[in-house]
Amino acid sequence: MSFEFSDEFDFENRIMDTSEIPEDTADGDNPLRPKTLDEYIGQEKVKENLRVFIQAAKQRNETLDHVLLYGPPGLGKTTLAAIIAKEMGVSIRITSGPAIEKPGDLASILTNLNTGDVLFIDEIHRLSRAVEEVLYPAMEDFAIDIITGKGQMAASYHLPLPRFTLVGATTRAGQLTAPLRDRFGVVLRLELYTPQELAMIIERSAEILSIGIEHDGALEIASRSRGTPRIANRLLKRVRDFAQVMSDGVITRETAKIALDRLEIDNLGLDRNDRRMLEAIIKFYAGGPVGVETLAAAIGEEAVTIEDVYEPYLLQIGFLSRTPRGRCVTAEAYKHLGCKMPGETGNSQPNLFD
Ligand code: ADP
Repeated sequence: MSFEFSDEFDFENRIMDTSEIPEDTADGDNPLRPKTLDEYIGQEKVKENLRVFIQAAKQRNETLDHVLLYGPPGLGKTTLAAIIAKEMGVSIRITSGPAIEKPGDLASILTNLNTGDVLFIDEIHRLSRAVEEVLYPAMEDFAIDIITGKGQMAASYHLPLPRFTLVGATTRAGQLTAPLRDRFGVVLRLELYTPQELAMIIERSAEILSIGIEHDGALEIASRSRGTPRIANRLLKRVRDFAQVMSDGVITRETAKIALDRLEIDNLGLDRNDRRMLEAIIKFYAGGPVGVETLAAAIGEEAVTIEDVYEPYLLQIGFLSRTPRGRCVTAEAYKHLGCKMPGETGNSQPNLFD
């Protein structure tokens, strides 16, 4: 069963969108991107481990082991890859799974690396099988086998490569094939940030962008940024516009509140689309369980977007639970949305189309 209410969703203009924006590209000129581990706020465990691995590799005069970074979009994986290269004192080459179409594309990237370089492959789970197979010996033995010609004219060359560090990023480690995952010596999981950490990120960004902000204002934005620095920075820029017009350019708690309310981002950071998704589960599936594919079809969104963008935060704040039979909306979410739980007296159906 599929329900048509795509009109109600606004995927194009989603301010809470976590997908990359042009200024986010690591080689682009993004002044907000921290350049060193010390500037990188939060993710203490990840930083602690990386510091040790980097220092040890440098002391031994070796290249750093291959690193896999995983976690929801916008948490700082690309930023961290660039920091790793900088801390190791090497260059970084940036590409992504979908951009490497053929084994030859990867071969040409690999043969152009210098010793010690970091090769960053974003969305590494999207590499094709054929490309992945070239990557295995490159990661393990620092060599690739190239076959040229066909039939009797075919010839195979064993090409040594410089030692390099592969930094792979993915939204979920489970999306990787086992042979690829096993070839990473270091596997690090990035967590959603706390509101306090996000407030520090916002204050740092505000300083770089010369935006006046009070600590309470930063906290107000932080608490609605769903644990994600990319969203925090984006909201900061939007709230700045309101502050300019409303309070002499300084972001106070009050201006942040008014601005974010106007942008329909509630006090927990849920936007219209989150609320509609939760309401869809309540209205059409009695609060769940509902499988992610079914839900995706019902709301006209891709299953992977639901899993990577909507769910991590909704799970973290305890609004969704994952059961073997599918997703369920929790009592807290019912309360937040002002809906009655099934079995409670009164109207248990939210008014979805009001
Ligand atoms: P990902 O690669 O995980 O999607 P990015 O590395 O592109 O995320 O980070 C998104 C934006 O968030 C960056 O432009 C950067 O300015 C900011 N950012 C991410 N992590 C941090 C952090 N720990 N401290 C400060 N800013 C951060």
